[in-house]
Amino acid sequence: MEPCAECGAPMDPRSCDELFQTLLALGHARQAPWGPLHGVSVSCFLLQHPSQLPADDGAMAWALLHAYLEGGLDEANQLVGRARRGNSHRVQGTPAQAVRDAAPPHRDAPHARFSVTIHDVAVDGSFPSAEFTERVKAWAAATVEAWS
Ligand SMILES: [Zn+2]
Repeated sequence: MEPCAECGAPMDPRSCDELFQTLLALGHARQAPWGPLHGVSVSCFLLQHPSQLPADDGAMAWALLHAYLEGGLDEANQLVGRARRGNSHRVQGTPAQAVRDAAPPHRDAPHARFSVTIHDVAVDGSFPSAEFTERVKAWAAATVEAWS
């Protein structure tokens, strides 16, 4: 079977989309370690599958990964909080300052393959809690590196 055209991971035994659905369900249940890392892991997935990026071209996802890698989960949560507050006041169509500053250069998706993909994070497909945090961090670092 052909590997995923976007992140390069094997599609066997599960496709990236199937794994992403599992990850979303775990995140929405709000339990540690998946719940707190929900925004970070969704950002990793979207930036490794650019065809699924929202209308902001991944600016928020990109800012979130940078905040997480530089300042940890606290920093990432603060960014999300600021962006939410900013959204209610900002001029229509203008992203919040923090998001704009961290936006990736506008160009095509990276051609380099990612050294860590959702398949690595999923392990056996269940996203086991043991060392989940470490795997997400490696996933975030590999995503930013490939786009940089
Ligand atoms: Zn993929």
